[in-house]
Amino acid sequence: MSASRIDGNVLAKTIREEIAVKVKEHVARGNQPPGLATVLVGEDPASHVYVRNKRKACEHAGMVSFHHALPAMATQAELLALVQRLNNDPTVHGILVQLPLPKQIAEAAVIRALHPLKDVDAFHPENVGLLAAGQPRFLPCTPYGVQQMLARSSIATAGKQVTIIGRSNIVGKPLALIFMQKPSAAFPEAGDATVTVVHRGTRDLAALTRQADILIAAVGVPRFVQPEMVKPGSAVIDVGINSVDGKLVGDVHEDVAAVAGALSPVPGGVGPMTITMLLQNTLRAATIG
Ligand code: NAP
Repeated sequence: MSASRIDGNVLAKTIREEIAVKVKEHVARGNQPPGLATVLVGEDPASHVYVRNKRKACEHAGMVSFHHALPAMATQAELLALVQRLNNDPTVHGILVQLPLPKQIAEAAVIRALHPLKDVDAFHPENVGLLAAGQPRFLPCTPYGVQQMLARSSIATAGKQVTIIGRSNIVGKPLALIFMQKPSAAFPEAGDATVTVVHRGTRDLAALTRQADILIAAVGVPRFVQPEMVKPGSAVIDVGINSVDGKLVGDVHEDVAAVAGALSPVPGGVGPMTITMLLQNTLRAATIG
């Protein structure tokens, strides 16, 4: 048996078209187009590519993007001053500070300086708290992308066993918060699932991954998930982006396709969905701001 492919490119295209229609309607009602400010500090080549792709997607959807590049030696005070300017700029609805930042800048201080209503990555403690309380303002882009991949592939999460490998603040932890909570009018995306989070401190990790109806890998270790760790017929979402000999590979071994019922590829899986949900959050920021 070969797993069906959960194609992030196809799903992302559909959602971006939906967003573009909503942007048009928003502007037709006399509003400014949603504006996303991207901030890049330094010369990291991967970060340059990410920011370029985010800006392109933004413009394709009819939004405006404002780019700010600071040199690698920029100080924290300079970055905080820029964030403050963007917080006060009424044409900017969302602010994205591309991480990681150079070591002289404390990421937590920059995230706290963002206006919570413009925090389209949903990393600000106020937005993290709202998600934990079941009343999210924004869902963080990668976990939101994973939720949409499952929902739009008609893979129900309610009552299922969801196992997440990884507990980072940007992927694993918010994924758990989304899938464990009870859906409500304030939080229709909530998964109503039974969630297990595994990490380096977990004993017999494979026994827990084998119980999963839905397994999500956000590990950062190439091909970490082997076929024998997967329940036959389950859905497997691969969040990983790893470079091996110049080739992009995920956290899930290719042979898992022979065991799983559905599998998201890398590339062309969660990556395009992450950018798409950034657009969704920017539109939301423009409409609630
Ligand atoms: P991270 O901050 O490094 O977290 C990795 C998590 O995996 C940690 O919780 C860690 O456990 C766990 N882990 C690592 N090695 C392990 C092992 N041998 N056994 C068990 N658990 C292990 O990474 P991240 O930011 O969450 O990103 C994860 C992956 O997703 C990376 O490949 C990243 O590039 C990718 N990513 C993709 C997107 C996208 O748009 N597709 C977005 C963000 C990230 P401990 O907590 O115990 O250390």
